[in-house]
Amino acid sequence: MIAGQDVTILGAGIGGLTAAVALAGRGAQVTVLEQAPEITEVGAGLQISPNGVRVLDALGLGDAARSRAMQGRGVWLRDGISGREVIDFSFEKVAPKATFLLFHRADLIDLLAKAARDAGVVIRCGAQVERVTPGLGAATVKLAGAPSCEMGFVIGADGLHSVTHSAMNGARAPFFTGQVAWRATVPATGREPAEATVFMGPGRHMVTYPLRDGTMVNIVAVEERGTWADEGWNHQDDPDNMRKAFSGFCDDAQALLERAETAHLWGLFRHPVALNWHYGHCAILGDAAHPTLPFMAQGAVMAIEDAWVLAACLDRDGPQNGPQRYQLLRRARCEKIVAAAGKNARNYHYANPLARHLGHGALRLAGRLAPQQVFNRFSWIYDADVTKA
Ligand SMILES: Cc1cc2nc3c(=O)[nH]c(=O)nc-3n(C[C@H](O)[C@H](O)[C@H](O)COP(=O)(O)OP(=O)(O)OC[C@H]3O[C@@H](n4cnc5c(N)ncnc54)[C@H](O)[C@@H]3O)c2cc1C
Repeated sequence: MIAGQDVTILGAGIGGLTAAVALAGRGAQVTVLEQAPEITEVGAGLQISPNGVRVLDALGLGDAARSRAMQGRGVWLRDGISGREVIDFSFEKVAPKATFLLFHRADLIDLLAKAARDAGVVIRCGAQVERVTPGLGAATVKLAGAPSCEMGFVIGADGLHSVTHSAMNGARAPFFTGQVAWRATVPATGREPAEATVFMGPGRHMVTYPLRDGTMVNIVAVEERGTWADEGWNHQDDPDNMRKAFSGFCDDAQALLERAETAHLWGLFRHPVALNWHYGHCAILGDAAHPTLPFMAQGAVMAIEDAWVLAACLDRDGPQNGPQRYQLLRRARCEKIVAAAGKNARNYHYANPLARHLGHGALRLAGRLAPQQVFNRFSWIYDADVTKA
């Protein structure tokens, strides 16, 4: 029912481009409007868990994705101070059939943009949307330097500072969590582990994993602190500040930080999940609907899931009724994931040495006696297959 209809997607991020591929595959005439002068991505890594990989597979992008990404081997939790192992989840043991992919963000964006163009999608860069009016008959979009224009169906995939979200929900009211995240990529030495490693310390933790055939290592380093920092991808910071914050960490962690020539800082804010995901001929997806803290590595994966479900609902029920079903299928799951991510950081950050000793000890024991059960706590996230809904 969406075949032949015009759909305009605002934002050529992971969510917008996945939606473009999914809708073009169902016969829609898709245009993507992106504010950036060209499609580029920041130098950072992205873990795509099996629930996101299933969508890439269903879109026919599975082989290309596997060839552009590294296969995740597992997750290794370590005490950040002593370096001692707390728990080692090998995916071969706890999730042998599941695929976890480790992407450089630019590679995933490039793959999606190419697939979209191949499917006939028009991507217009340098098109900054100033205002969206989600009318009942058609949505109106005002681009910078141009008069307002009626467009068929409009999808706001315009991220954290979404103008489409505001048009349907009013301004967001985020609050600072008291945590900041540095991100950096450093050259690999070849001695780094193949797994994603989490170094857990008092009031801070650091996640590292290999990228691009093991030639690079991605670092996300999170610190609890009172001073506010901006939210966004482009706030550079002196990498010495990151090194200072983790100066008490073990040699393996310090050796990685030592090699960081640049670092970006991101203030971590909690945002309520949007109440309204659609109105009239307009819907939102990805960070526009549900920005999340990065502690479950699910922000981009949820955007990918949203994109599939929205395309399927529009196809099944049309632009009139499809968006309602889309919100029904998506909102509760995303809200649960966002809440779980909000809790996760504190689990890594025991400040009191005794609490840390006991907490790590309990995890270590559970990891030895029943690793599968510990891992299965996340099966509601990873086992979901939205392509079957
Ligand atoms: C440190 C960190 C690590 C993370 N790690 C992971 C991870 O491992 N796995 C994971 O799944 N998620 C991760 N995330 C979350 C993930 O990055 C986001 O959830 C994801 O990028 C959201 O995709 P999106 O397409 O909704 O929005 P975005 O990626 O923000 O894309 C929005 C696009 O819209 C464009 N745009 C915005 N406004 C306008 C406008 N007015 N007009 C036109 N265009 C506009 C932007 O330029 C951009 O291209 C992480 C986040 C952080 C901060």
